[in-house]
Amino acid sequence: MRKPFIAGNWKLHKTVAESVALARELAHGLADVKERDVAVAPAFTALASVAAVLSESPVALAGQNCYPEAQGAFTGEVSPYLLKDVGCRHVIVGHSERRQLFGETDGFINTKVKAVVGAGLTAIFCIGETLAEREEERTFSVLEHQVRIGLNGLDATSMQHVIVAYEPVWAIGTGRTATTGQAQEAHGFIRGLLAEMFGDVLAQEIRILYGGSVKADNIDALMAQPDVDGALVGGASLKADEFVRIAAFQNL
Ligand code: PEP
Repeated sequence: MRKPFIAGNWKLHKTVAESVALARELAHGLADVKERDVAVAPAFTALASVAAVLSESPVALAGQNCYPEAQGAFTGEVSPYLLKDVGCRHVIVGHSERRQLFGETDGFINTKVKAVVGAGLTAIFCIGETLAEREEERTFSVLEHQVRIGLNGLDATSMQHVIVAYEPVWAIGTGRTATTGQAQEAHGFIRGLLAEMFGDVLAQEIRILYGGSVKADNIDALMAQPDVDGALVGGASLKADEFVRIAAFQNL
């Protein structure tokens, strides 16, 4: 069975002191978390301090983004190796904010996924359609394009270090969550596509997270869907008690 994974993306929020305070609350609230993996992705500036707080905790550390080169003259960028060095085990790649605000293409995201996996980390590879694409009934073709290009050149072995996050863009930060039916339909489609690309074994093993206005009051119904293996949580991950409740989801 796939072990559920709950990840919090703190985005561009919180000073070092605020991040440390939140991490302390999570380390306490999630000290006994079992049968699920939990990770948080603070801003780069807070990673080292949060790593120290979480060192004895089951909560893992993730980077929000990376540059695909290991090192070099890339002013302002951070490589997967540096994220690993500071204690990260996962890196979010291809978040819709990176795609939309910073012009990241599927091909560029593909180089990042490979760099993350090559550094011995796990990529949380984000995909999702915009509202216009959904309304034009292009959801599946958009997802297929993002998956085929974004995961191009990986094999079933390297895919063991990839987690997919389905995040409909229209649901991110809007308070508008996909219905459980919409989430399951997309996740089932993605799993079928991964089976075609990497085989049934990988497709059954890989975790597919849902992201988009996940909250304490909708996580249980989402997690009850057979192909929803966890959540990537933005806004609700900034409040300790809400995120602890999300991580403590109940399968209905
Ligand atoms: C996200 O940023 O990945 C996200 C899902 O944000 P929110 O939970 O705030 O919609």
